[in-house]
Amino acid sequence: MGILVVGSVAFDSVETPFGKMEGILGGSATYFSTSASFFTDVSLVAVVGEDFPQEHVDFLRSRNIDLTGLAHESGKTFHWKGKYGYDLNEAQTLETHLNVFENFKPVVPDQYRDADYLFLANIDPVLQMEVLGQVRNPRVIACDTMNFWISSKPEALKKVIERVDILIINEGEARQFTGEANLVKAAKKILALGAKTLIVKRGEYGVLMFTDSTVFAAPAYPLEEVYDPTGAGDTFAGGFMGYLANSGDTSEEGIRQAIVFGSVMASFNVEDFSLNRLKRLDYKEIEARYRSFKKMTHFEGLAG
Ligand code: AMP
Repeated sequence: MGILVVGSVAFDSVETPFGKMEGILGGSATYFSTSASFFTDVSLVAVVGEDFPQEHVDFLRSRNIDLTGLAHESGKTFHWKGKYGYDLNEAQTLETHLNVFENFKPVVPDQYRDADYLFLANIDPVLQMEVLGQVRNPRVIACDTMNFWISSKPEALKKVIERVDILIINEGEARQFTGEANLVKAAKKILALGAKTLIVKRGEYGVLMFTDSTVFAAPAYPLEEVYDPTGAGDTFAGGFMGYLANSGDTSEEGIRQAIVFGSVMASFNVEDFSLNRLKRLDYKEIEARYRSFKKMTHFEGLAG
């Protein structure tokens, strides 16, 4: 069972304390689909401009990502410029150039309108809503967003969140969206909008999952070398949804396993700039790190 994703395909310019890169491959849909492609079939709906090189298209194809829904328009590809300080948990956006996204009307190819798994990656919530209107009856709809859209299009975003099963957002964004400093209270407010599951990403502190009756906490994998956190959230979501679509298991246990696969994928992604680490990753490494996660988080129950 494959996944349909709509989101950004981008050029990023990123500065971290460990280096500076200009015009590298990025975008929420790029990270998501590459990560999910380790687990299942993915088809992507997005737009790029005339400046988008064939080399990047070839890379996405090499991961078996279906690009029928990738529009090529005249104009420039979306460009995001961001910076991280020594606290790598939060990006500071320096510039956002929507470019070809400004007038983009997403079209879901006919063969994907029956997709069982839909991921609305970080993009204009108006475009997320248009995609929601073109799919028939997905089994699982998940979505991500960011501060840029929370402040510029809060009403459109609220409408999207009302329709999704799983919302995956950063800690700071959960607070910003709800106006609640306390995450447990913020989670209650978000779940009351309609989502059944909320996953809060907390950078190097891992993730928290909330449903109306349970909480699950997963740490981030402790890494010695972290170069660039860009795309960690989307890579997490790709591993999470990819595993879910592959297993078809949406029980609480299945969702917990998917969260750990998401965390494994994100932990690889931050080890290098752009998608460079994912480009040289193989499935055996993913399984090995999943097993280390299991060991790392295991503890015994109380006697008796
Ligand atoms: P994250 O997983 O949150 O680190 O996402 C990073 C990616 O989001 C970068 O590769 C950017 O190209 C992309 N991005 C940044 N701002 C936006 C935006 N306003 N809309 C869509 N994508 C964005």
